[in-house]
Amino acid sequence: MSAPASNGAYDEWLDALGDGEGYALVCPEGHGSLPPRRVCPECGSATLSEERLAGTGTVETYSVVHVAGPQFADDTPYVTAVADFGPVRITGVLRGVEPGSDAVAVGDRVAVGVEERATDGAPLVAFRPAGGE
Ligand SMILES: [Zn+2]
Repeated sequence: MSAPASNGAYDEWLDALGDGEGYALVCPEGHGSLPPRRVCPECGSATLSEERLAGTGTVETYSVVHVAGPQFADDTPYVTAVADFGPVRITGVLRGVEPGSDAVAVGDRVAVGVEERATDGAPLVAFRPAGGE
């Protein structure tokens, strides 16, 4: 296999997330990070264990993107959000909402999964509102 080494760990993580088996890397001090990190960004520990993520997180910040680079040209406008999943924060594209400033609120619960980017079909981390179901 000749997959690029730099993306391998992250791609595996995306696959796991898409299967509902997302995880965080947690060091002995309890700091969380995501692949492809191999050492804790907080304390430098190389002893990272995988901890399963909850299927839903809480929106911490979000923004509406109207102008994006070529990789996202066909996706605009869209909403990016950072959601808190306990040991880690995950950045993703929020779907299932009208892209606008009132599309979502800080504190809303979102489900996480993997969907395709509209522009080129590449997999990306996607959130969907988890509230009214
Ligand atoms: Zn740490």
